[in-house]
Amino acid sequence: MLPKRCIRMQSEDKTEVRYNLAQFIIQVEALNANVDVSILRRAYEFSDKAHFGQKRVSGEPYIEHCHEVALILAELHMDTTTLTAALLHDVVEDTEHTLEEIRDLFGDEIADLVDGVTKIGAVKFTSLEEQQVEYFRKMLLSMARDFRVILIKLADRMHNMRTLEHLPPVKRKRIAQETRDVYAPLAHRLGIYKAKVELEDLSLKHLHPDVYMELVKAVKEKREEREAYIQEVVQPIKEALSRDGIEATVYGRAKHLDSIYHKIVKRGVPFDEIYDLLAIRVIVDNKRSCYHALGILHDMWKPWGDRFHDYVANPKPNGYQSLHTTLLGPHNKTVEIQIRTREMHHRAENGIAAHWLYKEGRQIMNKDDRQMIWLRGLLEWQKDLENPSEFMDYLKMDLYSEDIFVYTPRGELVHLPKGGTPLDFAFQIHTEVGLHCAGAKIDGRLQPLSRPLTSGDQVEIITNPNQRPSHDWLKLVHTATARNRIRRWLKQAGFDQSLKLGMEILERSLKEKRVAMPGGAILQECAEKLDQKSVHTMLAAVGSGTLAVRNIINLIQPVTEKTPQPGIVGRVIDRIRGSKGILVQGMDNMMFRFAGCCQPVPGEDIVGFITRGRGVTIHHASCKVAIDMINRSPERKIAASWDAGPNQSFVVQLEVVVEDRKGMLRDITQAIADSNTNVRGAEVFAGDTSANGKFLIEVSNLSHLNRIIEKVRRVKGVIEVHRSRRYDPGQ
Ligand code: MN
Repeated sequence: MLPKRCIRMQSEDKTEVRYNLAQFIIQVEALNANVDVSILRRAYEFSDKAHFGQKRVSGEPYIEHCHEVALILAELHMDTTTLTAALLHDVVEDTEHTLEEIRDLFGDEIADLVDGVTKIGAVKFTSLEEQQVEYFRKMLLSMARDFRVILIKLADRMHNMRTLEHLPPVKRKRIAQETRDVYAPLAHRLGIYKAKVELEDLSLKHLHPDVYMELVKAVKEKREEREAYIQEVVQPIKEALSRDGIEATVYGRAKHLDSIYHKIVKRGVPFDEIYDLLAIRVIVDNKRSCYHALGILHDMWKPWGDRFHDYVANPKPNGYQSLHTTLLGPHNKTVEIQIRTREMHHRAENGIAAHWLYKEGRQIMNKDDRQMIWLRGLLEWQKDLENPSEFMDYLKMDLYSEDIFVYTPRGELVHLPKGGTPLDFAFQIHTEVGLHCAGAKIDGRLQPLSRPLTSGDQVEIITNPNQRPSHDWLKLVHTATARNRIRRWLKQAGFDQSLKLGMEILERSLKEKRVAMPGGAILQECAEKLDQKSVHTMLAAVGSGTLAVRNIINLIQPVTEKTPQPGIVGRVIDRIRGSKGILVQGMDNMMFRFAGCCQPVPGEDIVGFITRGRGVTIHHASCKVAIDMINRSPERKIAASWDAGPNQSFVVQLEVVVEDRKGMLRDITQAIADSNTNVRGAEVFAGDTSANGKFLIEVSNLSHLNRIIEKVRRVKGVIEVHRSRRYDPGQ
């Protein structure tokens, strides 16, 4: 017997009492004979009393909502506990009764379910958005303990969507949008096709009422034609299958409106040409019959295009199983056919709820159920997110994505969201494979890690133990899991790096003052006095530049003596260059300084070198000094890139050779000032026939510098202009 969409009391007369306890019990028992009616009675009466006097916006008594929500769950064959919690789901949120009362009256299990769907009341949120995000997080966490929470929430949302027309338009749009963004995809992820389809259609109805009405009309007009055609297809299939002794239920159905809408809008297919407006479903007894039936059908009509999918052998990530094929049916019209067993059908319609049916009474979820794997992944990555809106972005990305499937070199199937890259694939295989991913071959050929994969690709990951993730990787991945693993790694690596630097800075500073490195207990004391969580966090703070090492030294040995002053030019450079504008290994909070030898400016390639006790020194990538040092200690090399804002300036020195004439210095200074540049200092040494000038100037980047050089070169009497690289501000 195929599940009916819904069994509802058909009452023409609205005044007739439809929503009462007696009706409820009849309706529930018709759907599931195993429920414990006495608890349901108690809950119904309690809820009715608690909500007494409250009305829905539609004007109907509130209990109708609780009644309907519980019925939706009864249609999914949910157990007594779930139905009871559904009846009580709004009591804590909307009435004077407390969760403790529910706990006393109905026990922990039901109380926990009610708590899981109750909004967070006590905490103040700065925005509606933040509040909603926190609510989702809470709901998903409760779902990890008991997945029935999400089913109650889906049923609640379903009934609210069914009665949405009673709300003002603005609210209607917001709720419909949220349903389309989160709840429908969630139902899809959990494999509850029934709920997904209805939620999508209802969202469409309120988001685009005109389109919706048009589609309803169009589908209706085509109805007779469609049904005639279905008969033309269904009849021969039935006969052919039974000739071969296959017992099967065969029926046709129209595609749901939202999916038609998407084909029209997103793919630009005109309504008349949507060939799979109708799909034929063949339901058989067992897996073997699926393939047997497929063979018979492929023999009857020619398969069309390459639209065959074996989701029986390779279920979708949400657990869905069926054989899909498209055939060229009567009158050369294409017909989409799904073949599945009864059990597959039941699971396809009810998803995660279907597992409950077979294990009634105890919550045993098979740990390998695909929905559970997805849920666990979700709960894992959400832990690491700091920002609530990030959570929502990731969730949507994870929910929305269409799937593609690709293969490992050994032929194992891997599911990825559409747009997934080889790097996503690598992380899907194993975190370690991802972290050391150095390259990828797609169908045997080397391809960039950023290339989106397509279904059917065979992907081989090349790993290298020395390979490490970088910030750029975040742009290459599409899945929340991969993104999160990379971030976690970068965070840890950044911390380790800062810790190492902090340690070196402290050692160096102590040595300068001829103070011995104190023991752990003293450092621990320092950390406490400086409000740091631990010695490690304190040292990392020094390394990242958020804590001055002087603070620690002062605690270890209070000093009166002044710290040595850097040379005058050194101070100028330090002051002007500041401490912003560079990402060291992709991080912007590392302590660094610019090397005096090469004075790089934005636009030039740079490299970082870890200097004992001084943090990171930034050099021009082709600076001889840097290359020498890196050759000697390659482990101290660190990646660096520019992150300079438009108003930042960098000091460079220009050397100018000029004819010695009156007013030369003024003319050059004027030329520089004309290009919107500050001159920080100038010196001129006169020779016999020519003079040498040195100018310290501030530029914002390489092209700015080149413009100035060009200007100076054009000054009358200038023989040569070049950048002085050997300038040494004195360590
Ligand atoms: Mn509700």
